Amino acid sequence: MTTRDPARPTPAFAPETVLVEAARPPRATGASVNPPIELSSTFIGTTEVNDSAYAYGRFATPAWTPFEAALGELEHAALPALVFGSGLAAIAAVLALVPRGGTLVMPTHAYQGSLQSAQELSARAGFSVVSVDIADTDAVIAALDDIVTDDAAARDSSGDVTAGPGIASALLWIESPTNPMLEVADMLALIAAARERDIRVAVDNTFATPLLQTPLDLGADLVVHSVTKYLAGHSDVVLGAVITGDPALRELLLTERSMRGAIAGPFEVWLALRGMRTLSVRLERAQDNAQILSERLSRRAGVAEVRYPGLPADPGHARASAQMAGFGAIVAFTVDTAEQATAIAEAVRLWTPATSLGGVESLIERRRRHASEPTSVPEGLLRLSVGIEHVDDLWADLDAAITAATGETGDGV
Ligand SMILES: *Cc1c(COP(=O)(O)O)cnc(C)c1O
Repeated sequence: MTTRDPARPTPAFAPETVLVEAARPPRATGASVNPPIELSSTFIGTTEVNDSAYAYGRFATPAWTPFEAALGELEHAALPALVFGSGLAAIAAVLALVPRGGTLVMPTHAYQGSLQSAQELSARAGFSVVSVDIADTDAVIAALDDIVTDDAAARDSSGDVTAGPGIASALLWIESPTNPMLEVADMLALIAAARERDIRVAVDNTFATPLLQTPLDLGADLVVHSVTKYLAGHSDVVLGAVITGDPALRELLLTERSMRGAIAGPFEVWLALRGMRTLSVRLERAQDNAQILSERLSRRAGVAEVRYPGLPADPGHARASAQMAGFGAIVAFTVDTAEQATAIAEAVRLWTPATSLGGVESLIERRRRHASEPTSVPEGLLRLSVGIEHVDDLWADLDAAITAATGETGDGV
């Protein structure tokens, strides 16, 4: 697993316990065991300027504080998380810190919204985006070296650096495992290489959750989450968060949130903390199911390829075993054609054909149905977000749908 930075405080409890006990109200006879849902847009000030923790609801509200404290602790940050109105709002706030003339190194395969947001923001803000295969460590490091060389050349010719505060010139974006191909990045090597070159690193930790990997411990500067997915866990809220241990970066992100106003509603944040209490048992069951289903799929006639880091034959298996505490619950498999894949998603009765992931219910989706999905994603690829139902029910439904769509029958197990 991850090695801890000795400078970081050691949490008092294991993460499973932190999930349950973090951010409870102070104990007193008759007191509530859960934080209340506080609904107030403004807060009383006793001096001319209200300089208490809470003044106005766009800057900070007690409705966010328990969730932000719990998530900061789970990601091993010395500072509370910053909650945003969606995962993409959190991601856009981070990308907004890349300076004009700077570079964003981005995985070719990543959450589609992150890729689109990077393209759109880079065009307006004047930074460049370099696409890399995040599983190809040498190629990523070569891209980081190019940035260092280009920066030196720019300084020689112009004499001034257009560095922004927080992110001096470049940001390496890591998603691991990636959406939807499940590639695994060598996080330790990539983060170390970026740090040696003064390049900041952000990790989208949505698929893994802090239970499977804590990138700040490996030296990452920033972690982002789509809280919508595993953390909240019930497909009933859209929410995001950024976590950093760097006070200057956090201040910049707080300004982004306060000044652009991509804030979260009190009820959504309350639901997310409520959902997070059960993350460890949800993830454990979903992950066990994903392992069994991926093994059955890899033996199934009609299935061309299965990607799941928990399969010993998967290209990401060794890395994932070394750096993660589990393999997660997203599985991708391919059948020969787009038509077969669509037919499978239409034939299932228990699985729900829908986008998104990380809820208790199992979802199935042909990714290339989205016009903006990278063309390197196979037409016949189906992404599974494996839920917590009984695995035999999930398999029976999927197996029957594969038979119906491909005409290939399985062996029943
Ligand atoms: C869903 C998702 C996002 C975007 O989050 P929203 O909450 O939908 O805005 C970002 N990254 C990953 C890996 C996701 O799965």
